[in-house]
Amino acid sequence: MNVKDSFLGLGHFNVKDGTQTRFWVDAWLGNKPLKDKFPALFNIVRRKQDSIATVLSSPNLNISFRRNLMGRNLENWQLIVASLQQVNLMEERDVFVWNLKDSGAFIVKSMYAALINNGERVPQDIWRTKLPMKIKVFMWYLKRGVTLTKDNLARRNWHGDKSCCLCHLPETIQHLFLDCFYAKFLWRSIHILFGIVPPTSVRDLFESWSKSSNKKYNTLLLTAASALLWAIWLTRNAIVFDKCKPKSLLQVLFRGTHWLRQWASLQRHEDLKDHLISAAVHLETLALAFYSSNGWLAQRQDYFPFPVVI
Ligand SMILES: [Zn+2]
Repeated sequence: MNVKDSFLGLGHFNVKDGTQTRFWVDAWLGNKPLKDKFPALFNIVRRKQDSIATVLSSPNLNISFRRNLMGRNLENWQLIVASLQQVNLMEERDVFVWNLKDSGAFIVKSMYAALINNGERVPQDIWRTKLPMKIKVFMWYLKRGVTLTKDNLARRNWHGDKSCCLCHLPETIQHLFLDCFYAKFLWRSIHILFGIVPPTSVRDLFESWSKSSNKKYNTLLLTAASALLWAIWLTRNAIVFDKCKPKSLLQVLFRGTHWLRQWASLQRHEDLKDHLISAAVHLETLALAFYSSNGWLAQRQDYFPFPVVI
């Protein structure tokens, strides 16, 4: 079972517009997905990943089977069609609800425990860091390439605007976290200050960039990278969901240094704490120096601060 299915298998969808929920594969009509309730039907249906919105887009249901339905399959299909009578789509996003806690709230720890119990392999480098559990999960998703950037949403039948909300190029994990000029600003700041060449991809970040030296230094790199990546993700989400665009690149960088300071206090080793706080101070000083000479509203690409080739 892949990570996405492990994740989705731990909850169910509360269907609103039906665009985020897959008709056969996700759990939405009761606690089990239709593919598990009716495996024989699932076996012969065409377009197994279609969303509910796609299936309900025509009055006769936009579904086709590779064979004529007979006997038990026909009875089961009639059961499904009967239960669809109660479904009314509305103009709101589908909501994913966790099964693991009574409140249905997003409890990352319970997801982690459930994955471990399912024998899912979890990379040790991320789980060894002293970071909040939700950040570890965020980094793990990134490593597995399943973070819900717009390209990944589109693979799930999402039909919204696929462009990056910061610069309008197509939003992918590579673009948002490494190539977009917001991300480049953060990575270049680190390059200028500490001489650390930015990772070329998420894969590079996990497989070689954060494994270049001794264990303690690698943990430091991974923690700092997590703070920057989390700052980018929160900034992106604030624009997408709250229409709240940052006033400058500085705001994104300060968001990152905020998390660096927060997570410094979680470290067991005093020298790790000191390094993280000092990194935050240096980044802020550099950014302030740049802004005081370039103007506080500078945030376009042509204002780019550092003439560094990366
Ligand atoms: Zn962008």
